[in-house]
Amino acid sequence: MINLLLILKDGYNYSKLKEKLNESSVSYRFLNLYGKNLVVVWPDSLANEIKDDSILLAVKTSKPYQLASNEWKKEKTIVNVKDVEIGGNKIVVAAGPCAVESEEQVMETAKAVKRSGASLLRGGAFKPRTSPYSFQGLGEKGLEYLKKASEATGLPVVTEIMDGRDLPLFKKYADMLQIGARNAQNFTLLKDAGRSGMPVLLKRGLGNTVEEWLLAAEYILYENNPNVVLCERGIRTFEKSTRFTIDIGGMVAAKLSTHLPICADPSHPAGKREYVEALAMASVAAGADMLIIEVHPNPEKALSDSEQQLTFEGFEKLMERLRALANALGRSI
Ligand code: PEP
Ligand code: MN
Repeated sequence: MINLLLILKDGYNYSKLKEKLNESSVSYRFLNLYGKNLVVVWPDSLANEIKDDSILLAVKTSKPYQLASNEWKKEKTIVNVKDVEIGGNKIVVAAGPCAVESEEQVMETAKAVKRSGASLLRGGAFKPRTSPYSFQGLGEKGLEYLKKASEATGLPVVTEIMDGRDLPLFKKYADMLQIGARNAQNFTLLKDAGRSGMPVLLKRGLGNTVEEWLLAAEYILYENNPNVVLCERGIRTFEKSTRFTIDIGGMVAAKLSTHLPICADPSHPAGKREYVEALAMASVAAGADMLIIEVHPNPEKALSDSEQQLTFEGFEKLMERLRALANALGRSI
């Protein structure tokens, strides 16, 4: 189904336009995104006749994700997480452990990744584990440790939420919500994240097409939350040599279809720390605006994803290589 997006003039006549929409028996939703008053209208087949003085522009995109599409918003969106700008010339790096394991572990890691040039601290307190017998994360305690490390370093925190009922905790302790690959089509959670108004890092589901990924972002935008960053983290294919197959082509396709910033997570598709650098470099070459990298003080002893987490030295070396690449591309990091 293709929708119609109406961009309204300033001082538009809400009640008159609403009356016309009601008469046409279309479904619609008024939104304010990126400083623009919008109405998304569907299905477009019924909407063709809608004419009103309030309408500045009516845009019919060729995509089912109307709000995320760059066919109406040509300029790239910048997502602000406190004072960190995602989507500008500077490539933003979020780094930290897969899971928060102790106060010292996350504090030490936050200081190390900051020294090497990271702009955001990552770390999971609520972990989506395949087995119920695996380490599930420290929960609220983990969020508390992240906040302490954030206060000590000035790095804003991005961390995964699995349940909308935990939002008050995330509002208290975190700066950006991560929606994980396994919840990428949990539409209730997407709506909750949208309504929270917090910036959202939305991972691509391991079995999702690029279109499904962008439609998941659409759910968040539809709740009037403009602050969405899309994150490629590898998809499941027949290939076994890496943990997941990083879809560089899909990243490029997404980047050319949306105004939202694109992030890459090279750690999870790599599965092995030796592969992380090359996948990170490939992602930046493909246009990633952000990277999220797993770093641990002692990866071999990590309680989750131990084989793919970088040491502090490994992360420092990666940042040096990325800096050279970013410079060559006319970007900074
Ligand atoms: C993570 O970032 O630690 C994580 C669980 O990622 P994903 O949802 O991509 O598997
Ligand atoms: Mn992980």
